[in-house]
Amino acid sequence: MLEADVSLKVSKDLIKNIQEKALGQKVIENVQPGQQIIKIVSDELTEILGSHSSELNFKNKPSVFLMCGLQGAGKTTSIAKLAHYCQNTLNKTVSLVSTDLRRPAAIEQLRVLAQKNNIQFIEPSSEDVKDIVQTALNQSEKLLSDILIIDTSGRISTDEELLIELKTIYELAKPQENLLVLDSMMGQQALSVVEAFHQTAPLTGFILTRLDADPRGGVALSAKYQTGLPIRFFGSGENISDFEVFHPDRIASRILGMGDVVSLVEKAQKDFDNKEMESLQAQMMSGKFNMEGMLKQFLQMKKMGGMSGLMSYMPGVGKIKSMMENADFDEKIIDHQIAIIRSMTKQERSDPDILKASRKKRIASGSGRQVHEVNRLLKQFEQTKKMMKQAQKPGFANKIKNLLGGNQMPTIE
Ligand code: GDP
Repeated sequence: MLEADVSLKVSKDLIKNIQEKALGQKVIENVQPGQQIIKIVSDELTEILGSHSSELNFKNKPSVFLMCGLQGAGKTTSIAKLAHYCQNTLNKTVSLVSTDLRRPAAIEQLRVLAQKNNIQFIEPSSEDVKDIVQTALNQSEKLLSDILIIDTSGRISTDEELLIELKTIYELAKPQENLLVLDSMMGQQALSVVEAFHQTAPLTGFILTRLDADPRGGVALSAKYQTGLPIRFFGSGENISDFEVFHPDRIASRILGMGDVVSLVEKAQKDFDNKEMESLQAQMMSGKFNMEGMLKQFLQMKKMGGMSGLMSYMPGVGKIKSMMENADFDEKIIDHQIAIIRSMTKQERSDPDILKASRKKRIASGSGRQVHEVNRLLKQFEQTKKMMKQAQKPGFANKIKNLLGGNQMPTIE
């Protein structure tokens, strides 16, 4: 992770989470333990980065987008790219204004890029940033622009003066989006830059530049982990159209640089789950269902997102699902039941009939639960066993059908 420029602090946190998740996991057939660890790491990265790309906020007309970043991060280029994307892909009209009075060359660069790409450029109206912003707000409204993008000063470092000026502009412009432009190559410095900008003027997201030069993009992970804010776009070259919506799930395997291993483990895991399911089904149907089988069932259920996750795989059971939601079904119960079974000996799991008062007490204290919870689990086990016996009799499907109010028999897709 350090090689991919994920910050040291974030890397340490991640390792702690990964260790917790990895300990106690069963090694899947056909996979090396090391490969399985890589899959766990990849899952953790995907979870942090999120699975959806996020949309820009267009509440007002014009919607104001403030752009900030250090000098050389690719801010001016990104502003032109963003404007071009909004005009050509989202069909919005855009006006640009620059407040970077210290670098006349930066203003000129933006003017040239705007002219070249048919984007409205509002000339700075004075030597005062507040004046410039206010005039641009009025003018873009008159021009009926959908979006006004404001460029701010870029500096070598996050010095005091830069941040004070940014705050002034932020308070005046009240932007819907405040995007920090981050260079993928900036390395370990990224986290302190993110913090400085976010504390001065709350950010709404990031634009990552030069992902073409550093395909790993560990900076994305640090920024997202630290703030919880989305990476909106990334730059993949110097041209105006080298600009893409950021898909977080794709970056996880880039950071690891081990996409192949991840898909290998995914496949093995799927096969493993299918095998487990098949043997569980066979066990259930043979009437040899015991606590070990029940434990497998609970673990499988958890993998599929708990009780509500399991329900979502079944069309036609919306009624039951909403009943369960109303009844505030506690997903933690499954965890407790797993703990109880794990506190049983092998003999107890295969023959729960031997569980009398003293054994139940031992199991309860071993799992940190109460004896009545052990009893409830045993009752549930008996009911499941009974239901399985019934399931083998003809007419069971109709019984369920009636239970669901005559609706179609649910099928698992
Ligand atoms: P600013 O100082 O933050 O405004 O930075 P500029 O927008 O002037 O960009 C600095 C340099 O980086 C320019 O030469 C750009 O062409 C280049 N640049 C910006 N974004 C990207 C990108 O996504 N990929 C590559 N390869 N170069 C980029």
